[in-house]
Amino acid sequence: MLAPYACDPARSRGRRHPEPAAPTRNDFQRDRDRVIHSTAFRRLVYKTQVFLNHEGDLFRTRLTHSLEVAQLGRSIARPLGLHEDLVEAIALAHDLGHTPFGHAGQDALNACLHEDTGPAALEPPGEDEPHGGFEHNLQSLRVVDALEERYPDFDGLNLCFETREGILKHCSRANAQWLEAREPGGVGARFLRGQSPSLEAQLANVADEIAYNAHDIDDGVRSGLLTLEQLEAVALFDHHRRAALADHPRLQGRRLLYETIRRMLSAQVYDVIDATRQALREADVRSLDDVRSRAPLLGFSPAMREASAVLKRFLLTHLYRHPQVLETTGRARRIVADLYQAYCADPSLLPTGARRAGLSLRRQVADYIAGMTDRFAIREHERLTGERLFT
Ligand code: MG
Repeated sequence: MLAPYACDPARSRGRRHPEPAAPTRNDFQRDRDRVIHSTAFRRLVYKTQVFLNHEGDLFRTRLTHSLEVAQLGRSIARPLGLHEDLVEAIALAHDLGHTPFGHAGQDALNACLHEDTGPAALEPPGEDEPHGGFEHNLQSLRVVDALEERYPDFDGLNLCFETREGILKHCSRANAQWLEAREPGGVGARFLRGQSPSLEAQLANVADEIAYNAHDIDDGVRSGLLTLEQLEAVALFDHHRRAALADHPRLQGRRLLYETIRRMLSAQVYDVIDATRQALREADVRSLDDVRSRAPLLGFSPAMREASAVLKRFLLTHLYRHPQVLETTGRARRIVADLYQAYCADPSLLPTGARRAGLSLRRQVADYIAGMTDRFAIREHERLTGERLFT
C-alpha cells in the first residue's frame, strides 16, 4: 500500500540514540505513541488555540486541534499511499512547543527575548541552546529532543529523523546552522540546502491549515464573534452553504453551519488528493529523494489555494483581529512579559526542575514559560505580581 515516494519505517534515517526495534510496532507508530504519552501532549488540553481555555468548554484547544489535524492527515495519507503513522505522529506533535495563550503568548515571549536589555541578555548562549528569539516550530523540536524527561538514557523522546523533520516546519537560518553544527546532515540541513521535507511532513502542514480554517469558523460562530451572514462573503463557505441548503432546504442554525463545514472539509481533502496526484505525475516523482529535491508537491489546486487564502484573510480581519480577541490577547501578552521579567530578575522563583545546566538563564525562563498552560500562567502571574488579569 505504501507508495515508492512515501517514508518507510524500514528505511528510516533512524534515531539519534539507536534503540532495538519493537516486536510489533513500526518506528513511526512508536513515535506517535511516545508523543501521546508525553507530558507536553497532555498540557495541550489547557492551551489556547484562539479562545482562551477558560472562555468556554466547547472551543478548540491545542489538543483537540492536534487531533483534528491528525484525522485530516490520515484521511489524505491513505489514498496517496503515504505513511499514516508518520503523518499522525507529526500532526500530534506539531504544536507541542506552543506557549500558553496561542500566538499572543508566542509573540510576547519572542519580544521578551529580543528586547531584553537586562543582565540576563548579556549572558552568552549555552552550547545546547538555540539562538535569537522564540520560534515555536523549533520549540516543538526542543520538546521532543531535549525537554521531555522520560527515559533513563537520554533527554527527549528520541524520535525518528522523519518525525523530527516534520515537526520542524520552519526554522531561521541561524538556528538551521546551529542544528547543522550539532547534527550534520540532520533536520537543519534542508533549510540550508533549499530542499523539501517528506510528503508526510508536507501533508501535516496542509492538514493543519485545513483544520484551523474550518474549526475557527465553528468556534467564531459559537462565540458570537462571527455570524453566518458575514460568512456569506467567503466564496468557499457560501458555495457549500448553498449546496447544503439545496439538498436540505429547511436546514438552519447550528446544523447548517456543521453541514457547510463538513462539505468544505471534504472538498479540500479531495482537492489535495487530486492536485497532489497530478503534481506527482507531472514531476515524475518515483522516490523519496525525488520528493526532497523538488519544490513542495503536496497541496491544494491553484483554485482551492486561492479560496483558502480568501477564507484565511476573512478570519484574520473578522476573528483574530476582533476587538474582543485583541483585548484578551493584550492581557495574555502582559502575563508572559511579566513572568519573563520576574524570573530573570530573581531566578530563585523558578522551580528546580526548570533549572538546566548548559542553558542561559533567559533560555531556561523561555522554556519554562513556553511549557505553561493558560491557567497555570494566569495563576503564576497572580502569585508573583498580586494582580489577577483573568477571573
Ligand atoms: Mg497547528
